[in-house]
Amino acid sequence: MTGTPAPFTADDYTARMRRAARAAGEAGLDGVLIAPGPDLVWLTGYRPPETERLTLLVLRPGEDPALVVPALEAPDAAKAAPMLTLRDWTDGNDPYETAADLLGRAARTAGTARTARTARFGVSDNAWAMHLLGLQNRLPDTAYVSLSESLPMLRAVKDAAELERLAAAGAAADAAYEEIRKVPFAGRRETEVAADLADLLRQSGHSQVDFTIVASGPNGANPHHEADDRVIERGDMVVLDFGGLKHGYGSDTSRTVHVGEPDTEERRVHDTVRAAQEEGFRAVRPGAACQDVDRAARAVITEAGYGEYFIHRTGHGIGVTTHEPPYMVEGEERPLVPGMCFSVEPGIYLPGRFGVRIEDIVTVTEDGGRRLNTTAREMAIVE
Ligand code: ZN
Ligand code: ZN
Ligand code: ZN
Repeated sequence: MTGTPAPFTADDYTARMRRAARAAGEAGLDGVLIAPGPDLVWLTGYRPPETERLTLLVLRPGEDPALVVPALEAPDAAKAAPMLTLRDWTDGNDPYETAADLLGRAARTAGTARTARTARFGVSDNAWAMHLLGLQNRLPDTAYVSLSESLPMLRAVKDAAELERLAAAGAAADAAYEEIRKVPFAGRRETEVAADLADLLRQSGHSQVDFTIVASGPNGANPHHEADDRVIERGDMVVLDFGGLKHGYGSDTSRTVHVGEPDTEERRVHDTVRAAQEEGFRAVRPGAACQDVDRAARAVITEAGYGEYFIHRTGHGIGVTTHEPPYMVEGEERPLVPGMCFSVEPGIYLPGRFGVRIEDIVTVTEDGGRRLNTTAREMAIVE
């Protein structure tokens, strides 16, 4: 049993913020604006309430990080993120004035450069539109671009401490899978098995359960089917896809089980998905493009004649959230880098009949991929 990992320190967060500011500069941005959400948690460890009051982290290359914060939240912010310079504002005052003051300096610098240009800031995707519009009103000559467009790989490469947490989350999800195989499936509703899964995820140390997909029989043909009232029957394929957060980092794994003995086609489809998952995994190595992982997995399914039934990308990144860049998808040409962490999860979905998906979280090492989910990928027979 592993204990609780040591919390990240102010120094860790300062290093992340410095890296982000540097990356912003390299991407031609004058800075990044981070609203409450996963980017802010990753950069500062601060988890403010997501309310209508403006909280905004401003990172600029070569400048100290500053947090625009409602005065009533300032004490909590100072405690959670002591390395930040706080710029608080009180109700009744205009928070955008405070933020614009911080941004305006960068905007003016850009404006007075020999070749005058518009200052550009990357904005985290979950910033509220009203806040961005408020800033735009104050600084109409400033350009705002989506952070996921301009710096999509900001959180993509994980350090050793993050990988340790992701591995622990993966092991905890695996423990839940080993147990769920022992519960009765036939004659119970999907929602009941999903509740068992959620309990097992919590028992294995998850502080948050994000999803517990139990998709039996024809429901399995919908990749994001939520568990419903369908009673699982003998003869059903059942897609299980579950995950959440443990120690602040995500798990996400899928296995497809069968209630009783499967028929020939069910075996063939499952074998095909398993082979596709294996080929996707083998394509993982530094320097390969993200889309190569998708292509490798998809080729197996296409060759087996099921190409039109693999209706989603092969994978997504995972970290402080369970869905984030990098995406293993056609057209994503960015290279894999050691420390990246993402799912490899091909599937086949036969409308009206059944679906199969197999998913592991994989991290990129110098030598290739390493699976963070290690339960058997063979089709398990459940009762
Ligand atoms: Zn069957
Ligand atoms: Zn999943
Ligand atoms: Zn996934």
